Amino acid sequence: MSTSIGLFRKELAGLRPYIPGKPIEEVQKEYGISEVIKLASNENQLGPSPKAVEAIRRELENINIYPDPGCMELRNKLAEKHGLEMENIVVGNGGEQLLQIIAQTFINAGDEVITSDTTFTILGIWVEYLGGKNVTVPLNGYKQDFKGYIENINENTKLIYVCNPNNPLGNIMTKDEVNYLVENVPDNVVLIFDEAYYDFARVNPEYPETIDILKRRPNTIILRTFSKIAGIAGLRIGYALTSKDIAIEMSKVKGTFNVNRLAQAAALGALEDEEHISKTVELNYRSLLIMEKSFDELGLEYVKSNSNFIFVNIRKDSESVSKELLKRGIVVKTGTIWGWNSWLRVSTGTVEQTEKFISALKEVLKQ
Ligand SMILES: *Cc1c(COP(=O)(O)O)cnc(C)c1O
Repeated sequence: MSTSIGLFRKELAGLRPYIPGKPIEEVQKEYGISEVIKLASNENQLGPSPKAVEAIRRELENINIYPDPGCMELRNKLAEKHGLEMENIVVGNGGEQLLQIIAQTFINAGDEVITSDTTFTILGIWVEYLGGKNVTVPLNGYKQDFKGYIENINENTKLIYVCNPNNPLGNIMTKDEVNYLVENVPDNVVLIFDEAYYDFARVNPEYPETIDILKRRPNTIILRTFSKIAGIAGLRIGYALTSKDIAIEMSKVKGTFNVNRLAQAAALGALEDEEHISKTVELNYRSLLIMEKSFDELGLEYVKSNSNFIFVNIRKDSESVSKELLKRGIVVKTGTIWGWNSWLRVSTGTVEQTEKFISALKEVLKQ
């Protein structure tokens, strides 16, 4: 049966299906290896926050009851933590869902979103789906080109998406750079700061505190997630900090029970788990240091990271290098999807995992 023209929403023709990375179990079967190290999705290699796990255990008894659609307890705690009110907060089924909600909240056909040609693509997919236009500005020296963003603003510009730190590069935009952007963007353009790696980045004194920007500039949205730092990517929960007006509009399209009970409980547990957060951040920078040192020794160029991954130029076809790594039980992400064909994005791991990756990489590059 051929697909009849006009059956599907027309914007879908321009979108490509998501190609998922191989799950660990698949790699084990295909290559006949027992130990697989997955450094492809920026997951927390220490595991989930123990306090989150404890909270889930307690909550298990209650899963016959629908979750709180308003995520009241969590929003109260988050408001307290961030010096905001709960009306400033929207909780989503992961940061990904919040990016979808943002597109649904603002984009009419023909509206434009300014972002970089190398960044996290989820918002862009929803913008395209809704008939909006992604204006992608080339990077300038591996950084998001804020001057270029400002030059591209016109009467159709609704949103500017800043991924800070940027995925897949891992580097941050500094306070000064972000201030320059804020000062030069008209008030009616919504600035989005995707801070999925906030807790890793904030150790850099140059990293901006965007909540201060939100407090004086209502058309601002800050995204955070529990997936990376709290190690609960499998549960799906993240949140947006924004003005009360934007939060009300976003809540209209979030879906009633968008965040499940276990995720809400886990997030509350994770918020209390200072120890897990600091251990995670500490291990992250140990792992980054091992990789940076080894890349220096190998003469490989990399981007200075304040995230839980690093972007490195291995100067060979990254698809074939990643296949060779896969045979050795190591899963990484290639830069190919962003057009960076000799680059790899490698998540940080435990010291042992990081060292295994480095020795496998050395072996593969020697071939
Ligand atoms: C991981 C990530 C997210 C959101 O992740 P969720 O698991 O959906 O919360 C958002 N933005 C960036 C840049 C990310 O890397």
